[in-house]
Amino acid sequence: MPKKQSLKKLLDKIQLNVNKLYHIATHDEKTDLYNHVFFKDIFALELGKAKRGKPLSLIIVDIDFFKKVNDTYGHLQADKILLKLAQLLQHKVRKYDIVARFGGEEFFIMLPNTKITKAKQIAERLRKTTLTNPFLKKYKITISLGVSQFKDKDNLERISKRADKALYQAKKTGRNKVCIT
Ligand code: GH3
Ligand code: MG
Ligand code: MG
Repeated sequence: MPKKQSLKKLLDKIQLNVNKLYHIATHDEKTDLYNHVFFKDIFALELGKAKRGKPLSLIIVDIDFFKKVNDTYGHLQADKILLKLAQLLQHKVRKYDIVARFGGEEFFIMLPNTKITKAKQIAERLRKTTLTNPFLKKYKITISLGVSQFKDKDNLERISKRADKALYQAKKTGRNKVCIT
């Protein structure tokens, strides 16, 4: 039988490993933002509240011409740019908003208790801060953003389809802009 003290140490060690595993399972390795698995779970919880009348908005952020950034500066430098933008997005949203990396150079931001007019303002703030950040400015990085708000009978797929449509509109009409649906 292990002594009481060593049993506590063992349990602490197990807890530490559980925490580490939880972090790995819920975060994106490259940016340390939440990953899509966590985002889907937390969004499902918020959908429950939205169905009971709380506003809920979604922003999709996509880096403009990121393929060209890779071609011009190389993959490693492009990765640094990706990380910087991820940190900036995380830093500039409110503490109860959830930012996740969803695909290569695409980020989802969930804004609980937020109507689309406010979400649009936040998206615009993110667009501007990307333009003025000294590091990102050096590489002329811009982002396009699509914004949508929860509607009756929405699930993540439906609301993100609308935000994606808005994002497509932003891309089609010149990039470096925010569009809403
Ligand atoms: P658009 O303005 O239409 O979004 O153009 P784009 O070039 O950003 O879009 P496209 O989908 O054609 O290319 C996305 C590029 O993003 C392709 C890929 O090289 C790059 N990319 C995706 N994930 C990563 C990553 O983790 N690191 C780096 N360095 N590049 C990535
Ligand atoms: Mg892109
Ligand atoms: Mg993309």
